[in-house]
Amino acid sequence: MTCMSTNPNTRCTVCGQILARTLEYKKRYYCDFHYGLFYQNTRPLWRASILTFGVLIAMMLGLAIGSQLAPEHLGDAVPPGTGILVAILPALVWLIALYRVGARTQFHLSPLPVTMFVLGALLSAAVTRPFLYNIVNLDIWLGRTTVSNRFMGDILLNGFTHAFTLYAIIRYIAWDSPAFARRTDGVMLAFAASLGYATLLNILYVVELGGMTLLNGGLRLITQLCTFLTTGLILGYFVGYNRFEDMPIYHLSLGLAMAATVNGFLLYAGSALNSIRLSLTQSGFSPWPGIALNIGVLILTFSTIRGLMQRQNALTQAKLEQIA
Ligand SMILES: [Zn+2]
Repeated sequence: MTCMSTNPNTRCTVCGQILARTLEYKKRYYCDFHYGLFYQNTRPLWRASILTFGVLIAMMLGLAIGSQLAPEHLGDAVPPGTGILVAILPALVWLIALYRVGARTQFHLSPLPVTMFVLGALLSAAVTRPFLYNIVNLDIWLGRTTVSNRFMGDILLNGFTHAFTLYAIIRYIAWDSPAFARRTDGVMLAFAASLGYATLLNILYVVELGGMTLLNGGLRLITQLCTFLTTGLILGYFVGYNRFEDMPIYHLSLGLAMAATVNGFLLYAGSALNSIRLSLTQSGFSPWPGIALNIGVLILTFSTIRGLMQRQNALTQAKLEQIA
């Protein structure tokens, strides 16, 4: 597991410095400092994310109550400013909480999560949105086609385009940064990228509509955010795992395929479930089933990945202490 270097040009996986003494874990090489770091937990990530999920649930309740209290003559319509606030608030909460928890617990955080957030936002606005909606015209096609085509289209076109864009940001920008020093940093950076990505998609959705309805529109924004955060968590888990262990070549592709499938499925289910059957002959609309599934899957994915990563980190630590 630990060995002396035979190659004078062996570099640390994280910081890239040439190593006089090589420390190895599963065919990845480290300097002394990063050898003791990669299995540590990124503690502010878990706390900031749990707080953000609480805020999402509070926002759902707030939208439900607000739509009941709105004066009847105004209906449920609200100006774009309210929609933009709903779109931005979860991102603000997560970013502020992440750095505040970091500062309070003396956990050093680099500016890389903010960079990932901004890059996610830029790529959703400049690449995937124009590609899917102006070049492929996916929304028009999905609106006209059959249910089974819509399901497949959401997974194969929507899901894979979104997941690949997010994967590319993490794999080609964050991967080589010395600030990506722990497995759980992978989850944090992918979460930040997907948060920026979904936030700008939501803002552009509101701006394009010129406003929205408080309940249905607001819940749609939160539903879409949950879909992308789940996608980011899955990608982050696989990227975080691969960076610090030499895994088979298919492992990252498997992660990407899983993230894309879940993304497409949640986008499909987020709207399809909202068409409810009122009676044998009548169907109606409820904004709740789609968001209930999305937030349920998000919290379940988060808990599973947090549990898996913490278990894996504890096992690595025990293994390294045994051979030390
Ligand atoms: Zn290093």
